[in-house]
Amino acid sequence: MILSIENSNARLQDYGIQIPLLAERYTKTLEALEQHAKLSQCKDKWLLTANTKPLSREQLLRVHTQSYVEALLSENPLRVMGEVFEFIDSGGHFNERFVEHENNRPLSELVEKRLAHAAGTLVACETALAQGFCYFLGGGAHHAMTTGGRGFCLVHDLLIAVRELQARGQVKTVWVIDLDAHKGDGTAEITIADPSVLTLSIHMQEGWPLDESPLDDQGQLKRCFWPSTVDIPVPIGAESAYLELLRHGLQQLEVCAGGRLPDLALVVDGSDPFEKDVLQSAKLMQLSLEQCVDRTRLVHDWLQERGVPQAYVMAGGYGPENWRVHAGFLLDILPRRIFG
Ligand SMILES: [Zn+2]
Repeated sequence: MILSIENSNARLQDYGIQIPLLAERYTKTLEALEQHAKLSQCKDKWLLTANTKPLSREQLLRVHTQSYVEALLSENPLRVMGEVFEFIDSGGHFNERFVEHENNRPLSELVEKRLAHAAGTLVACETALAQGFCYFLGGGAHHAMTTGGRGFCLVHDLLIAVRELQARGQVKTVWVIDLDAHKGDGTAEITIADPSVLTLSIHMQEGWPLDESPLDDQGQLKRCFWPSTVDIPVPIGAESAYLELLRHGLQQLEVCAGGRLPDLALVVDGSDPFEKDVLQSAKLMQLSLEQCVDRTRLVHDWLQERGVPQAYVMAGGYGPENWRVHAGFLLDILPRRIFG
């Protein structure tokens, strides 16, 4: 199933935030699927549209600290949003990412919409458990940490969904397989002491977030350096080795799990490794469209061979061409899944 959450695709630009995270990624991917000769005949077989309520305080508190949740849900979350979307510097000044005169809507409304959007990841997991596969046209805030959001990621939708399913007794163990260009550092930090969630991250060996100072103001090791279960740093220029590195990493993950398969796998299908991505901090990985599609297909087929239910989120992807990565994968596997 492809999951589209209809009530929550807020444009950051409507709130004055200038980041090229475009809704076109969702809409153009969906259009490409709708234009497929066979898929267009049976939308009810593969498209699930839903409206979601914002994640609740209780759900947020399973992953994030109380002080962060209160700041997020306050009437004026300007400071929190400024940090997450990096439009306020450490001195409290606005930078060019925030255009105040265009900000004619309250940021608390954006928080509410983002929390409703984040609830889509839980729906995707529920659908994957029931049907084996679900691809959410959104989600994937893998940089959010216990103490707060960062790197354009407001709340950790993936682990909030996992905690909810664990609380209901619907899953015990989960794997998070992260293909975004940037290390899934929030996922690693939140699950560091949790054997029920194993994490794999294949990412740029250098650059953000790994190029930040390893120590904070108190001289403590920063959390972005906390390890995933399996980390696969890809050196600059090593794109041709990517698939083999990923294949090896998946084998390592299985070994780390002692050969036991999880109840659910979450795949963070970031499209920012794509060579046409426009974000400066994603430039150190330059996969072709074919390589991007191949890597997600590799994970899909590997999980399918093992009978593991799989839920996908889009995570990072910046600029007008990124939808091609998501559409390319889905146009390949969806007809196979539906028509055999
Ligand atoms: Zn990214």
